[in-house]
Parts: sequence; C-alpha cells; structure tokens
Amino acid sequence: MKISIPREEIERIVKQFDCSEAQAAKAYLDAQSESKAAYEEELLRQLGSKKEMGQKEIPVLTPRQIKEHLDRYVIGQEEYKKRLSIAASFHFAIIRHLEEQVEESDVKRFRKKNTIIAGPSGSGKTYCAEVLGDLLEIPTLIVDATDYTEAGYVGKSADDMIRELIDIAPGGNRQEKADFVNRYGGIIFIDEIDKKAKDGKMIGHDISREGFQRAVLKLVERKYVSIDNPMSPASQFQEVMDRQRPSGKKQKNMISTEKILFVVGGSFKRPNDDLEKIVKERLRHQSGRVREDGGFVVVGFGESQTEARAHTLMNYYKAAGTDDYIRYGLIPELVGRIPIRTHVNLLSKNDLIRIMRDTEDSIINQYKAEFKAFGIDVSFTEDALEFVAEISENQKTGARALVSVWENILTDFQFELPGSNFKELTVDKELCVSSKDVLLKMLEKSPFVDFIETFKSEYGIELKLGPEAQDYILEFAQKNGQQVSSAVKDLLGKASSLNYMDVAGTFEVTVAMLEDPQYFDNLFTQWYKEVNLERKKSQLEEEKKRAQELLRQNSDD
Ligand code: ADP
Repeated sequence: MKISIPREEIERIVKQFDCSEAQAAKAYLDAQSESKAAYEEELLRQLGSKKEMGQKEIPVLTPRQIKEHLDRYVIGQEEYKKRLSIAASFHFAIIRHLEEQVEESDVKRFRKKNTIIAGPSGSGKTYCAEVLGDLLEIPTLIVDATDYTEAGYVGKSADDMIRELIDIAPGGNRQEKADFVNRYGGIIFIDEIDKKAKDGKMIGHDISREGFQRAVLKLVERKYVSIDNPMSPASQFQEVMDRQRPSGKKQKNMISTEKILFVVGGSFKRPNDDLEKIVKERLRHQSGRVREDGGFVVVGFGESQTEARAHTLMNYYKAAGTDDYIRYGLIPELVGRIPIRTHVNLLSKNDLIRIMRDTEDSIINQYKAEFKAFGIDVSFTEDALEFVAEISENQKTGARALVSVWENILTDFQFELPGSNFKELTVDKELCVSSKDVLLKMLEKSPFVDFIETFKSEYGIELKLGPEAQDYILEFAQKNGQQVSSAVKDLLGKASSLNYMDVAGTFEVTVAMLEDPQYFDNLFTQWYKEVNLERKKSQLEEEKKRAQELLRQNSDD
C-alpha cells in the first residue's frame, strides 16, 4: 500500500513542535487513523509540548535603558521617568528570573513596585506610561477611573480592567491572551484615581468611591479574575459545567493579577482643597516656614538653625507622603499597597517649546510629515514656537493645549494648500497671529471676498460690501489690532440672522449697519414682531370670516 504524506502538513508539524521532519512524519503516520482532535492529541503526546503561539522573548531592559527611551519622547519629569523605569525594569526582570530559575528561590512572591503619580494635568503622567508600554511590548492598559465602579452596577466593574488588559495581549484566542498575561504580566495605568477619593465635604458619593478603591486594592494585592465577563452566556455556561464537575475546580478560566504592575495617577485637585494644600499645611505645622514666593524652606533635622541646610520646594507634590494621600481621600490600605510615590512638574513655556520641537514624535514633525504628504515643505520659526507656547501655557491644560492651538492656526492652510501651487510654507509668528489674513494674502484673495463667498455658501445670501463699508472694516481692524478677516467676522457675524428672515438674493451692507453693533439683532426683533403681527392679523381675519359664515348659516336656517 502506498501512503502519501502531505508536505504542507509535515511543515506545519515541524514548525509547531520544533521537531525534525522524520519525527514529524512518524508522528503523522501514527496519529493518522484517529479523529481530528485525537490526531492533534497524538501529535502532542509523541512530540512533547507545543511551541506556544504568540510567545516571544520579552526583552529585559535595565532602568537606564528604559529611561533613555522615555527621554526621547517625554520632556522633563526626570523623577517620574526614573521611578517608572526602575519599577518596570525590576518588575519584568524578576518575573523572568522567577520563570527561568530551576532551583528553589527564596523569593516566592515579590513585592511589586506599584506607583502613585501625582501632578498637574497635561504634563505627561499618562503619556509616559504609553511610551513605556510601547517599548516593553507588554500589554499596557490605560484607563480612566471614572469609567469604572466597584461592582459594575452602572458601567464597568474594576475587574473589567483585567479583562480589557487580556483583550490587548498577544495570542490567537482569549485563553492564549490570558496565558500571556499570566506568564509575562502587564501594566495597568489607572488615571484620575483622585476622582475616586473620598471627599469629606460631599455626602452620598463616598461609599461608591471607597468601594471602587477597595475593588482596586484587591486587584493590586492578588485576585483571580474570570477571563470572560461573568455575565456573558459563555461564562454562565462554564459556571454550570464547573458546578457539575465533581472536583468543583474552576481555575482554568481565571487569571491572577499577581504579575500586573499598577500605576495610579491623578492631579489630586479639587475646587475646595488639593493635595498641594494638604502638604503645605502639614509642612508648615511640622518645621520650617513658607517663603513669600510660595516656596518652602525645610530646616534640617538634628542641626542647629545656623547649620541648617535649607531645601526649597516649589512643587508640593514632591513632598506628598502616605498621610497626605490618606487625608486627600485615598484609603490607607490602598496607599499602603502602592509604595512608590512620585510626581510631575507643571510644564513651563520652555518645556512646551521643547515638547513641540525636540521630542521624537513632536507636533512639528507631525505637521511637517502631513504637509509633505502633499509635496509641501513646512518650516517653523522659533518665534512661532514661542508664541504658541505662551498661548498654550495660559490655557493651563499643560501640553494638551498645544494641539488645539496649532489646529486653530493651521486648519485653513491644511484645507487650502494641498493641491495648490504652493510647495513651501514658513510658519512664523506673523502667521500664527494673523493666520487667516496671511493665508488670504498668499492666495491673493481679499478677506471681504472670502467672507462673502463663505456666507453665500452657508446661507444662500449674497452680501454686497461697497468701498465705504470695506474702508470702515479696515479702519476698525487697525484700531483694534485685529486681522481684517476676524474684523469682518466680528462686524458681520450676526448677519446670519438674515437667513431666518426670509431674505433671499442679495443684501446691501451699509456703514450705518456696521456702526451699530445691535443692528442685526434689532432688525430680527422688528421682523419677528411684524411677522407675529401679520400672523395675528390673519388669525383675526380667519375668525371674522368664520363668524360671518356662522351668522350667514344661522340666518339661512
Ligand atoms: P496627564 O499628565 O494629564 O496624564 P498626558 O500625559 O495625557 O497628561 O499629556 C497629554 C499630552 O501632552 C500627551 O499625549 C503628550 O502628547 C503631551 N505631553 C504632556 N506632557 C509631556 C511631556 N512632559 N513631554 C512630552 N509630551 C508631553
């Protein structure tokens, strides 16, 4: 009898079991007669453990290597980058160490370097964790505490975080993904943990907030969490099956949170009190004094006043300790389980400039690449960066403001330039200050024509702006140090009400109209009154007619 052995199948077996072709062929023949499932089982029996799908070498990086990578993306925040690098490096190194060692170890369970990060929003707390996750190739989940509740009565439960972490792990199916996390661990960054702090001054919300913190505490310690949502049909079926099983064991579908590193962060600010205030108060009562500029001078312990070394602290997050976090509203058990406390600083104008210019994924490089995709070379001058940094700094949202400020400046350029003849653009301060006017000048288009065209396509009404009206607007812009385009918008923005007044065709704008800021409002009110009057008149007319009709009918009868 001639037996044919399919080449592809042998190749698959060699790949999957890491064996020789001869071994694969023999196992193939032995397993042949069995059913599909038994066939795979026989292969497994003969050739030993499967090479796991989705398995890969997780690099062990030193704290320095991690920090150097973070430096390429995150400006400043040295203390946080260092603490996070150490936490992550040791966490994954020890997981690897425990896995590889053959002999019994003294360490059975390791103490995780879970971390609290406090500091102003938009200054890199989450971003640092994102960059770290990308580097380590370890599933890294970033969540907002406010999206979760203790047991998920409304919204998601704290345990769902673990299932979401599994979702993003490598692996062909859910079990493989869960195995990956069970074996190599992961990182969960819980942002806005401060929103789940108890607030002594508020009644009602605190029980659920504390409940959430307790749920997180369990995860941070060690908890077995079902890898499927316990409410899903698959889980409920599994539950029934497990109950019927004599041993009652159901570990297979569970995942332990033991190897997950937790970082919790927040700005720890409330309108009525904040972490910085709490720290400041404590320090004032303990030792030292607050300087006039708001800094704090700590007097060294055990030294006379004259020998005292004075440290100045401008950022009170720096000095936040266990008690301060507890006083803010975190539960002591949770704070106790998160031993690393670190902070970020408020970003200065200088930091913002560096963020725009010097980081690997800087916003400027991003814009350059976007324009380049349409064959346009864009360059940015230093004074443009300074101008944008200043505006962004005033918005008090950290580096988050940068994107929206740049979008406002460049939106019209991104609309007009692709497909035009322009192949170069220099973004300088003038362009940032008067973006629309600069663009219109480039396009050789008057701001008046631009406004009239946009108005027409929006409302179907053509505004007529005579030379006198145009001169008035030019003077107005100059007087107010405004772009001409924004002066037109300011003076004629309310003309949009014409759209509601049944105006069709053209509308002549006179200087008198521009001089009166209430002109279009008044016009609308007057029109509204007239329309109502007309309506009332015609209603009366109708009623009169009906009454006459009735009278007529009555007299006919
Ligand atoms: P938060 O501190 O509130 O977690 P994020 O880390 O989310 O703020 O920062 C928002 C965005 O601002 C980030 O996505 C990143 O682009 C930018 N950013 C913030 N801080 C820095 C920084 N120190 N260096 C570089 N970029 C930063």
